[in-house]
Amino acid sequence: MSFTIAIDGPAGAGKSTIAKRASKELSFIYVDTGAMYRAIALGLLRKSVDIEDRAALAGALEEISVEIQYVDGEQRVYLNGEDVSPLIRTERVSDMTSRSSAKPQVRAKLTHLQRELAARENVLMDGRDIGTMILPDADLKIYLTASVETRAERRYLELTGKGEQCDREEIAEDIRERDYRDMHRETAPLRQAEDAILIDSSDMTIEEVVAEIIRLAKERMG
Ligand code: C5P
Repeated sequence: MSFTIAIDGPAGAGKSTIAKRASKELSFIYVDTGAMYRAIALGLLRKSVDIEDRAALAGALEEISVEIQYVDGEQRVYLNGEDVSPLIRTERVSDMTSRSSAKPQVRAKLTHLQRELAARENVLMDGRDIGTMILPDADLKIYLTASVETRAERRYLELTGKGEQCDREEIAEDIRERDYRDMHRETAPLRQAEDAILIDSSDMTIEEVVAEIIRLAKERMG
């Protein structure tokens, strides 16, 4: 039997950085489910699909395949065989992802793939609905969050660090909008599972959060 850890939470709470480090220390496979939704969104953008048109969306999804593979321990995501990992972090893709991931047809496409991965290996999977929908029996569930201000500040520092011009308030507004969409959609909204442990990282360093997750995992693994 594999051991499964589910980490859910809003955008910018540090999930992927923390999940990557914790999975490395635990020698678990890290599954970034957001990357899968992003790859589908890129596929839909490339086909200029009107996602509000159910038939058009269904047709487009039939022609889209998403796979993940691990290269040197890093997850890579493939869209119809092409490694699109470097192309899925743009604002345009982020925006389309948060819209298209609300569609039940899009979610259905990835549910099976995510469960299959967790059945095979010890995984640490991060996303929005892992503890509530995908792996309701996960051995450890974490709900990782941080205040909007903290998340906006982190994103601001990341972007300005890359030399990009940006505005703090615009970033915060964008985060609020995406939170709202993720939390209020009908299908698999973002929420804390009843048996998830809440970690608010607003006043914690990455190292502190990673250490806490590892402590909890080791405790459960016995
Ligand atoms: O985690 P990340 O920011 O890459 O996710 C991008 C978007 O994908 C989220 O805003 C959310 O709308 C969607 N997503 C989802 N369910 C998941 C993972 C991501 O709906 N399990």
